[in-house]
Amino acid sequence: MPAPDDIYKSDVDFTTLALQYPDFAKRLKSNRQLDFSDPESVRQLTKALLHRDFDLSIDLPDNRLCPPVPNRFNYILFIQRLLDSTTTTTTTTTATPAFHSFRPDDCYDPDRQVIGLDIGTGSSAIYPLLACRQRPKWLFLATEIDDTNRNYALKNVAANHLQSRIKLIDTDMSGQQLIPSTALERLQVERIDILMTNPPFYESESSMLASARSKSRPANSSCTGAPIEMITPGGEVSFVSRLIDESALPQNRSRVQWSSAMLGKLSSVGSIVQHLRDQKCTNFAVTDFIQGSGKKTRRWCVAWSWLGSRPTMAVSRGTGTGTGIVGSGSGSGSGVEKKYLPSPTEMEFDMPITTITPGGIKGGMNGFGLAVAEKRVNEEMGKLLAGTQGVLWTYVPARRAGMLMSKEGDVWSRKARRKKLHHHHHHHHQEDQEMKDHSDEPSTADAEDDSSNDDKDKQDPEPDPEPALVLRIDLLSEYLSESSNGHETKKTRIHLRHLQGHDPVLFESFCGWLKRKLS
Ligand code: SAH
Repeated sequence: MPAPDDIYKSDVDFTTLALQYPDFAKRLKSNRQLDFSDPESVRQLTKALLHRDFDLSIDLPDNRLCPPVPNRFNYILFIQRLLDSTTTTTTTTTATPAFHSFRPDDCYDPDRQVIGLDIGTGSSAIYPLLACRQRPKWLFLATEIDDTNRNYALKNVAANHLQSRIKLIDTDMSGQQLIPSTALERLQVERIDILMTNPPFYESESSMLASARSKSRPANSSCTGAPIEMITPGGEVSFVSRLIDESALPQNRSRVQWSSAMLGKLSSVGSIVQHLRDQKCTNFAVTDFIQGSGKKTRRWCVAWSWLGSRPTMAVSRGTGTGTGIVGSGSGSGSGVEKKYLPSPTEMEFDMPITTITPGGIKGGMNGFGLAVAEKRVNEEMGKLLAGTQGVLWTYVPARRAGMLMSKEGDVWSRKARRKKLHHHHHHHHQEDQEMKDHSDEPSTADAEDDSSNDDKDKQDPEPDPEPALVLRIDLLSEYLSESSNGHETKKTRIHLRHLQGHDPVLFESFCGWLKRKLS
């Protein structure tokens, strides 16, 4: 049984844990507290939690980093949600997966096989172990350049009988190259769904010691980390920037769906987001992890993709998930400035439908507003589709949701419609003599004119690139709002969700267009 997401929402009760784990009990002080500056105490805590909460038995060396379980679990929860709200996008198929697998709810698909890659898995191999315990279909690859860690990691994977699902693979042992492309090719791994890493945070021993001194709490266990685990030239910003650059290389760009990295310093978040923007990445996510309820150890995580499938806002902007753990609110409290957050992937507006006077239509008309909204949305989409190629619209009445796919992008704006008329004009100047400005009003001429595009559909020698825009429209149940004059307004909420596409402006533009059409 996977552990519940909110398992570490409140602090671990050491007294209860000690009852089950004698080795941990031995480390507990007389005041029932734990000495976090004592490496053995921290190791016993990690072992006890992994065993109690995840049925994992691990062995840890005493001269290497000991991972705090709640923080590592937070990272796993984050990648779960990131993957749950995005699909595998391949650029090689004509069909667009996001469109055909209608996902109305951005939730966990237990049949999906995910392949993860953990760079620098450490002695514990904690990320692969946790991920595979939580998600039975997932597989993990891992790299490690420190021999001690590598050997322990192998032992820990075997001790939990996960050798068939977790593999340590060869990597550049000098540490220069982070993504093990050569090994991936040799193993014929065609895609990685999620790459994760907990990079060495510090650029030098002195910066590591300075950071430890500046904490008011006693130095914690991470100080048992060996230099190779803690220190990297240029610090975490340089490590993660290198990872971004590697992920953008042609051989990795479409093979790795998501890359991600934990960051130990708030200031690194801005630098990393800037680096992504410099590289023209628009599809990324920023979140923060807080350990336990009272403790103030905070970490950040940035994930990015060069493919078009986009996560929900809760995931990409860390706006909270209800558990209070993951994404405790990048907008509010994590310290990440708004300007470093990715563009919204969701938007909503209300559609006013009926005004009901007191004592007028009530109860019996429930569903009326929705039915009208449903009709209006489908009408507008019908007009949009008429005579336009490369656009698909599917509406599923049972879900009160529809999906729109536009291959080329903008087909709704005044400009786009005018361009379309030109196109038609060009091809049919005999029939289509008079060229008038249709503005963005749909015209019957457009609607009847789609046969002309048939031959163009057939000539498509190259594999299709990703569609420019895929979005979902949900019609949410109406609610009644009462205004001061006692009139009640029935409204339907229109929720738009950007599912796929690199251009946030395109999504915004469509939202604006639909809102105008429906108001
Ligand atoms: N993932 C573990 C360990 C993190 S410490 C955890 O979360 O607890 C960082 C790890 O990365 C160390 O084990 C270090 O040996 C390893 N490492 C550092 N540079 C690396 C590189 N270039 N490739 C692979 N592993 C690396």
